Amino acid sequence: MYDLIILGGGPAGTAAAVYAARKQLKTAIITSEFGGQSVVSETIYNWIGTPEISGNQLGSNLKTHILYYKGPFLDIIEDEKVKEINKIIDVFLIKTESGKSYESKTVIVATGSGRRKLEAINADIFEHKGITYCASCDGPMFADQDVLVIGGGNAAFETSMQLLAYCKSVTLFHRSNEFRADEITVKKVLENPKFKAITNAEILRVDGEQFVSSLTYKDKITGTEITLPTTGIFVEIGQIPNTDFMKGIVEIDTIGKIVVDPMTQASSTPGIWAAGDCTNGRYHQNNIATGDAVKALEDTYIWIHKNK
Ligand SMILES: Cc1cc2nc3c(=O)[nH]c(=O)nc-3n(C[C@H](O)[C@H](O)[C@H](O)COP(=O)(O)OP(=O)(O)OC[C@H]3O[C@@H](n4cnc5c(N)ncnc54)[C@H](O)[C@@H]3O)c2cc1C
Repeated sequence: MYDLIILGGGPAGTAAAVYAARKQLKTAIITSEFGGQSVVSETIYNWIGTPEISGNQLGSNLKTHILYYKGPFLDIIEDEKVKEINKIIDVFLIKTESGKSYESKTVIVATGSGRRKLEAINADIFEHKGITYCASCDGPMFADQDVLVIGGGNAAFETSMQLLAYCKSVTLFHRSNEFRADEITVKKVLENPKFKAITNAEILRVDGEQFVSSLTYKDKITGTEITLPTTGIFVEIGQIPNTDFMKGIVEIDTIGKIVVDPMTQASSTPGIWAAGDCTNGRYHQNNIATGDAVKALEDTYIWIHKNK
């Protein structure tokens, strides 16, 4: 039986594993792969302490850091997807897709999330070729260009605000005529003369040769199809947390994020913590995920010692 099982090997899971091994908790980390979501990024500019690093290199560094602690206090279970977790009296039983099961006194869930993808013709083909899902990562590459943002919530408006600082123009497309973002943010963005919002828009297709050159949408009121030239499309239509297997075990919000106490990262179920993109924390970035995980681990450590 483990003291702690960490689920997920992205930045959050890695941070929790390193801290757990150093505190000599008997720990296992189970992950489908190492590195997390940003491994696909060509360059990451905000991983603190490293001015520029490729996503691949960051992923590989995270794995190296975990392997450094492999030993009596840390088991590494890779290429395994967790499919079920149950609480049996005071023990958590974790089952993986390959049919194995593991027992632990505590669990830190760090299974992250995936971006909700744009469903339009050619959207998959132009991903990373003009279509991007991360303005903080890729935005500056589009300085002085006319870019488009898809979405109508806070993420879409905050992305627009970021892009307005250096892009020539930002046009936001929203599928209905009511924005879901905070009014104050919407007002601020709408006041910018470089910004334009197009509502009741259904995105139909993206075109280009090697890179994006235009987007076609349908005006849902008139039925007209309109094509706009652009080099950059920023998609902010939500995230899908990897938490299906946690349903019924901990409190989960309406979009599937694990509800945590922001002071400790504790979930609604004693003995389970969560960190990073799978939680209902307001902001999600690599540095935040690692910080959340360290907080979760510190609290787990105290809990284990109190419940010995
Ligand atoms: C394209 C892109 C670029 C980005 N660029 C930046 C950037 O430049 N700077 C920045 O700070 N942030 C960036 N982000 C955001 C950043 O990647 C996330 O905030 C961060 O990865 C969250 O870390 P995490 O550990 O919570 O989750 P994730 O990174 O999502 O890691 C989750 C891990 O859990 C594993 N997993 C998932 N489900 C299961 C399961 N059922 N069983 C076992 N394992 C499972 C996955 O394989 C993965 O290893 C970017 C995101 C994307 C999508």
